[in-house]
Amino acid sequence: MNKGLIFMSKLFILVVAAVLCSGCSNGQNSKEMEVIMNAKNSDTQKNEIVKSDEEWKKELSAEQYAVLRKKGTERPFTGKYDKFNEVGVYKCAACGNELFVSDKKFDAGCGWPSFWDVKSSDKVVLKKDYSLGMVRTEVLCAKCGGHLGHLFDDGPAPTNLRYCINSISLGFEMRKEAE
Ligand code: FE
Repeated sequence: MNKGLIFMSKLFILVVAAVLCSGCSNGQNSKEMEVIMNAKNSDTQKNEIVKSDEEWKKELSAEQYAVLRKKGTERPFTGKYDKFNEVGVYKCAACGNELFVSDKKFDAGCGWPSFWDVKSSDKVVLKKDYSLGMVRTEVLCAKCGGHLGHLFDDGPAPTNLRYCINSISLGFEMRKEAE
């Protein structure tokens, strides 16, 4: 066999392997991709709790207001709930909506509290976020529209999702059981 033919054979094997691999990974990730792809394209959310900017400013601390109402991000590894393993429920710091449970929290090592699922799907709204030159999925409180964080597809099983949430957007209530 000449060198050209050997090279072409190797190339063919590589291409076949790459196609097979991408097929596997698509199958594995289809469920979480569906969750992320279903994120809304625009802000059509009708919140149960509607307050003016002035009202939110009065009720929230300056740091909470910057994240919850102005979509800021707290510095990694600084939040109260990053390394925090108590059993209970995480609530929206602005309106008290029960968002996450400790059973679904995991340490992603990213510096923000991370969850592989929400308490129930009606608790948050997902929206496409095109800020900072990236395409991300924003996670908002379904009750007050407060900015919580972002959703990524690199979490653990069974969802393979990672809800990356600002500690400052959360409150915590200790309970005997997480649910
Ligand atoms: Fe809220």
